[in-house]
Amino acid sequence: MYSKQFLRLEPYTPGEQPQDRSYIKLNTNETPYPPCPEIKDFLTTLSIDELRLYPDPNSEELRGAIGKAENLPVSNIFVSNGSDEALSFCFFTFFDGTRGPVLFPEHTYSFYPVYCRYYNLPSLRLPLAPDFSIDFEVMLREIAGTCGVIFPNPNAPTGRYEEPEDIERVLEEAGKDRAVIIDEAYINFGGTSAASLLSGHPNLIVMKTLSKGYGLAGARVGYTLASEEITSALFAVKDSFNSYPVDRLSQKIGAIALGNPDYYRGIQRKIIETREKTKTALEEMGWDVVPSKANFIFARKKGIDGKVLYGTLKTRGILVRHFQQAGIDDYIRITIGTAEEMEEFLEKCEKYL
Ligand SMILES: *Cc1c(COP(=O)(O)O)cnc(C)c1O
Repeated sequence: MYSKQFLRLEPYTPGEQPQDRSYIKLNTNETPYPPCPEIKDFLTTLSIDELRLYPDPNSEELRGAIGKAENLPVSNIFVSNGSDEALSFCFFTFFDGTRGPVLFPEHTYSFYPVYCRYYNLPSLRLPLAPDFSIDFEVMLREIAGTCGVIFPNPNAPTGRYEEPEDIERVLEEAGKDRAVIIDEAYINFGGTSAASLLSGHPNLIVMKTLSKGYGLAGARVGYTLASEEITSALFAVKDSFNSYPVDRLSQKIGAIALGNPDYYRGIQRKIIETREKTKTALEEMGWDVVPSKANFIFARKKGIDGKVLYGTLKTRGILVRHFQQAGIDDYIRITIGTAEEMEEFLEKCEKYL
């Protein structure tokens, strides 16, 4: 009864969203601060009639707000139900196993291999350097044999950030027949977007989301910045799948968020400050902490297995993320919460680990 493509699936495992007790949730990279107050005003004055009508299939108002924030015309912007959906559309649109495998880092966002199974694509997983940075010499050497490249910047779950100059080398090496997707889910925490490379590089797709930097993981708004041609291609894919993936409320909420950049710069700055303080405190307790430009840190305590770190913290009411994967299984990924939450986290680490 089941199709071959169904039997091939290996679904992504999202971080826990436990309902059994209250935890300090440092496991899914959500923002600990609320969305801007203007969103609350919108929701409290909302007319119920909003829900009677279909949303704008082209998300014009939201794309207008993104265009203003990114300083790009609306024709370069595609929006989706979270960036995961746009990622899936990109895998469908640009990657083709008959032209070679999809190239991505060995340790990276674990949705990429899931999409490879979904679309039946081979992959080539590039080992990271010992400090978890991307080895661009090796990447450049391998590109010619692949059908395209994707990686997050900063990378997940390591938090490591790569410079636009290196991304430009990848774009040049990939040439006009290979798409390069830079997944900037965490770009708001200290990195510089690759969007400035769009002019002159028609093979670049920059992927963004309001889930991490804008505290709107629940609204599911993602978007891409790319050439007009690519943007139309993504619309064609969307309209072959679901005409209305972004609902009316999320379109409006996303536009309001992007219209209030000062508020968001404020909370992003607080998260960066807390991240650096947490990193220093952990290092003083003998942890190894990978340098991060994301809203999380990747850390280990020598002599204690990552799974034990995770389990001990969970028993004490703190949820972090552990990946049972050779090469990173002694690490845990810790989302940066409020200053108070991180103090409690550090206290528990000091006491129980
Ligand atoms: C969280 C995350 C996403 C997905 O974000 P949504 O917009 O919530 O779907 C994409 N890429 C990376 C690397 C992420 O960590």
